[in-house]
Amino acid sequence: MAEAGEGTIKKDVVIVGAGPVGLFAVFELGLLGLECCVIDILDRPGGQCAELYPEKPILDIPSRLKVTGQELTDDLMKQIEPFSPVLHFNQMADSLTKLDNGHWRLTTDMGIVVEAPVVLIAGGGGSFTPKKPKIEGIEPFENKSLYYAVRQMEIFKGKNLLIAGGGDSALDWVLALNPEVESMHLVHRRAEFRAVQDTVDKMRELEANGKVTVHVADIPRVNGTDGQIESVTLKSKETGEDYDVECDTMLAFYGLTMKLGPIAEWGLNMDSNRVAVDTEKFETSEPGIFCIGDMCEYPGKLKLILSGFHESALMAHGAFHYARPDQKLKFQHTTSSSELQGKLA
Ligand SMILES: Cc1cc2nc3c(=O)[nH]c(=O)nc-3n(C[C@H](O)[C@H](O)[C@H](O)COP(=O)(O)OP(=O)(O)OC[C@H]3O[C@@H](n4cnc5c(N)ncnc54)[C@H](O)[C@@H]3O)c2cc1C
Repeated sequence: MAEAGEGTIKKDVVIVGAGPVGLFAVFELGLLGLECCVIDILDRPGGQCAELYPEKPILDIPSRLKVTGQELTDDLMKQIEPFSPVLHFNQMADSLTKLDNGHWRLTTDMGIVVEAPVVLIAGGGGSFTPKKPKIEGIEPFENKSLYYAVRQMEIFKGKNLLIAGGGDSALDWVLALNPEVESMHLVHRRAEFRAVQDTVDKMRELEANGKVTVHVADIPRVNGTDGQIESVTLKSKETGEDYDVECDTMLAFYGLTMKLGPIAEWGLNMDSNRVAVDTEKFETSEPGIFCIGDMCEYPGKLKLILSGFHESALMAHGAFHYARPDQKLKFQHTTSSSELQGKLA
């Protein structure tokens, strides 16, 4: 047990995961007057919906005849606006400690500390972790001059940057970082890019203006000393020839995999590699820690967004008693409660 610390964020609930279920939980908890802080390793909200199928139509959200993964995310973000949640992206929820006062202290890998009486795990399929490129001898450069995500934009200011990849993440960062860097190269193994057309068009505009040099090539080698990149060797897809591109920083986007990550070390009862919960409150084996969405397991669990939304409502009622032990919970409908209408106005 540890003592409550100062200089930390204090909220009623700290939520791990800003996927659709974590976002809707902010709403359900907000209706009961509970304030939330949300942590996600990704650089944006939406979890699988935004990362894996932003453009695909989802057809089984009640009353939404058709909504894309991104539209659903955008609408959930609008729906939780009245509750002003604190959202921290690019943060891995790392360690969890029980405090003497019974609350929890969650620390992220980037040093953010949140204390709350309730922890809600909405970690879905796990934290998104970047796939590493198969380039021999790249380990010494990792997190020194080679990165797999943009966790702090300042790192890239004034750099001679080489971005590898052909999807949305690679091209989004070409656009976002282009004004910040000294020079920029984009390397993809095909001439066609998989990003949304508008982003591809904007990248081509930068190319036409000489602000980014595009290479259709493989990357056989990264060169440098003491973790500092000096150049990257490319193998042209057109000619098969090797050539070096001078740069000091590299960002590689080779897709993401999902891993359970640090949550596995939090001492919770697990079932089939997911967190075991009851179906009354979706509480885990540890009082005050709840789990909903794809990461929870109970008899009959279906990995569907609508199941996660249902779990959010029941979880919120269970969580309320930890956050407001002296208060009685009043069940109310949004249609008829002026109190709830006031909160949502
Ligand atoms: C291709 C595809 C199509 C699908 N189609 C449908 C459909 O039509 N209808 C439907 O209902 N469902 C569909 N699903 C399933 C649906 O996407 C999931 O049920 C839903 O995303 C689960 O939401 P979630 O919030 O529980 O988890 P997720 O969406 O997985 O979000 C979890 C978030 O938690 C974060 N996270 C996890 N651990 C940590 C940590 N330690 N620190 C920081 N962040 C962490 C992750 O980065 C992630 O952003 C589909 C899934 C896929 C892959």
